[in-house]
Order: sequence, then C-alpha cells, then structure tokens
Amino acid sequence: MDIFNHKSDQLIMEKKKIEKYARQRDEMVRKQIESRGITDPKVLAAVRKVPRHLFVNEALMDQAHGDYPLPIGEQQTISQPYIVAEMTQTLQLTVDDRVLEIGTGSGYQAAILAEIVFRVYTVERIHSLFVKARKLFDTLRYHNIVTKYADGTCGWRDESPFDAIIVTAGAPEIPSALVSQLAVGGRMVIPVGNQFSQDLTKLCKDEKRTRQTSLGGCRFVKLIGEQGWKEE
Ligand code: SAH
Repeated sequence: MDIFNHKSDQLIMEKKKIEKYARQRDEMVRKQIESRGITDPKVLAAVRKVPRHLFVNEALMDQAHGDYPLPIGEQQTISQPYIVAEMTQTLQLTVDDRVLEIGTGSGYQAAILAEIVFRVYTVERIHSLFVKARKLFDTLRYHNIVTKYADGTCGWRDESPFDAIIVTAGAPEIPSALVSQLAVGGRMVIPVGNQFSQDLTKLCKDEKRTRQTSLGGCRFVKLIGEQGWKEE
C-alpha cells in the first residue's frame, strides 16, 4: 500500500510539473510571440506544443520560457523563443517541405520544424551537443529528424535540394554551398554579419536569381567551418 501511495504521489507531482510548463509555454506564446506579430498558426501551435524545458539543463528548466537565450554548454546557446518563432515563420513552411538546419545545438529549433514539416535534416559540429540532441529526439519520438555530425557550412549535398534552409549561427557571409542546395522556390534564413551583431537575412531563390531582404538585427554564436568563421 505504501509503495502504491508513493508511486501515485510521484505521478501527481509529475503531472503538476507538466501542467506548470504547459502554462508557461502558453504565456510565452501570448506575451512574447503573438504580441510581437507572429501569426502563422502552424508556428504558434508548434511553439505551444514542444516542451522547451526539456531542451535545457535541469537547473535552468524554470527559466526555459524567459524572453532570452540560455546556455546549453560548450559555450553555445538555445535561441530566445521569439527569434525561433520569427525564423520559422519566415521560412513559410508547408507540410511536405524538406528543411535543412545548420546548428542543431539543443535541438529545440529542429523540434519546432519537425512539428510542421515532413522531414528535418539538422547538422551540428560539436559532438557532445549532437549526441545529446539525437537522444532527446529519440526520447520525444521525433522520427522525422535526421541528424548529422559535420561542418554544416558545406550543407548536406546528398539530401539536397531543400525547400527551406535555416542557419542558427552567425555567418560572415552566406555560404555558397547552401545557396546551391536550396531548391528553386526555396527560402533561407541566416544571420549575416560580424561576430558581435548580425542582420537576420532572408534569401529567396527563383529560376533566374536570388533575392535578399533584411529582417533586422540579431546576435548569434559564430558559424564555424569551411564557409564560415575560422576555428579559434
Ligand atoms: N538551433 C539551436 C541553436 C544552437 S546555437 C537550438 O535550437 O538550440 C548554434 C549551434 O550552431 C551551436 O550548437 C554550434 O556548435 C553550431 N554550429 C556552429 N557552426 C557550425 C557548423 N559549421 N556546422 C554545424 N553546426 C555549427
């Protein structure tokens, strides 16, 4: 009987925790994301659904829904919730799109994409982050996320072309490999600038040319690799 009570207490606590984080996500969506003009219902539903607290270390879980980026180890960060929503909306995704992400990090952005599209390909250059994210994708049953441990500045040629490409680290310039792996009609979003501040840049590709627009300033960790910043 004791054991039974103990177990049911644990279950009740677990349920309360899940409800608490769901309430925090709901508030995050209303106050940080909808209020700043994100309207794509697919994006809003994905951000409401993905358990952001599981993508940070246990000690940071209660801060997971704050209006700021958080450290994820290896001197890298999980982006601010609003930035994730804005970049995702910018990609104008539909369900049968194949999306490439450069910079898996915690895996949060990839999970948001995986709620919306058919398949997500994500590349990470730091081994420990790659392993941790893969495990979390398996635990949360994101079977439509394909992961790779590599330098993402060269893209993922074997799986190209992609309908959308999202780069979640700051680049000195747009890697040409990524432009060439974008499908005609495809969209890319990438922070471009120096190491302290970048322009969030949208690139659209049609048969004849590519068009670039700036979405405003942002600050990301460095994109390091052959077509990015050189390793320190
Ligand atoms: N999208 C992530 C944000 C991660 S921060 C999230 O949702 O948590 C940026 C990540 O880009 C870091 O993990 C960093 O290691 C990775 N990165 C930097 N340069 C890279 C490269 N050339 N290829 C792949 N990943 C890279």
